[in-house]
Amino acid sequence: MNTFSIGIDLGGTNLKGIVMERDGTSRHLTRVPTEADKGGKKVLENILALIGLLLEKEISRDSCIGVGLGTPGFVDGDGTVLGGAENLPGWKSTSIYSSVFATYGLKASATNDVTVTALAESQFGAGKGVGNMVCLALGTGIGGGIVINNQVYKGTHGMAGEIGHIIVEPDGIPCTCGHKGCVEQYASATGIVNITRKLAPVYESDAPSTLKRIALESPELITAKIVYDHAKDNDPFGIYINDVVCEKLARALGTVINTLSPDRIILGGGVMKAGRIIIDTVSRHVPDFCWRQLWERCDIVAAELGENAGVLGAASLAFADLGDKSHE
Ligand SMILES: [Zn+2]
Repeated sequence: MNTFSIGIDLGGTNLKGIVMERDGTSRHLTRVPTEADKGGKKVLENILALIGLLLEKEISRDSCIGVGLGTPGFVDGDGTVLGGAENLPGWKSTSIYSSVFATYGLKASATNDVTVTALAESQFGAGKGVGNMVCLALGTGIGGGIVINNQVYKGTHGMAGEIGHIIVEPDGIPCTCGHKGCVEQYASATGIVNITRKLAPVYESDAPSTLKRIALESPELITAKIVYDHAKDNDPFGIYINDVVCEKLARALGTVINTLSPDRIILGGGVMKAGRIIIDTVSRHVPDFCWRQLWERCDIVAAELGENAGVLGAASLAFADLGDKSHE
């Protein structure tokens, strides 16, 4: 039978949905507003409506093996959102699987949005052809996803992959998680802005730096993009900040490499619009923080799939987790 899955990617602004065949071909990419400000119940209603919309486009609903969902935060084994999704007020405690089953008679599987992105990169993007990989999304924060033997590793209660909270600087910058010195405080977009403002008054160099002047005179104008535009333009303070960022990131990746010995680490998210400079600098620092034998068998590359990775990974997750179980 020609089975298909439905993938849903839950973002703070938009919900994305897609229909995917077992061979990975997809169709009907659809985008609707999340309406996160109206609370968790409304978000769930919108997800169910989007599933309905996608089912209507297919001739036989019976061929749907189920729904995969990528969401911010953690999801327990029974589909209950445990938390960690602060940008979606009221989303915590939502019961996803029972709602999808009650409405459409379909099984569902949900996990963290960066974990589904990792699955998508593994199957269709920069991780194609390697079995073990780790994906990091360098955005407002840092999310992580782990693929082992071509399958996502969710960990207990779906909480694996919190690579952004690996501590890289004891007594470092306080983090939203309550600890100090998490890599997220240095290598996320927010972290890059903070350390640029913090280090500008103490940075000294013989060569003039436009970036330093902006950071001192108009700190509100500093963004990760401005920092990296200057770094790529050979601004000495920009180059220095990139080195600080990548050295801290390398500490976390060294720990990941020593723990998992992956074939590949994939870096994505908004910060990676800077591109090659981050890959090159972090790859230069990583050998200082992990076993040489493991590093020799690993590489660090940029993500390939862009903004639709989440929805593709969510649809793949349904095949991986639900298989033919909906017909049992
Ligand atoms: Zn933290």
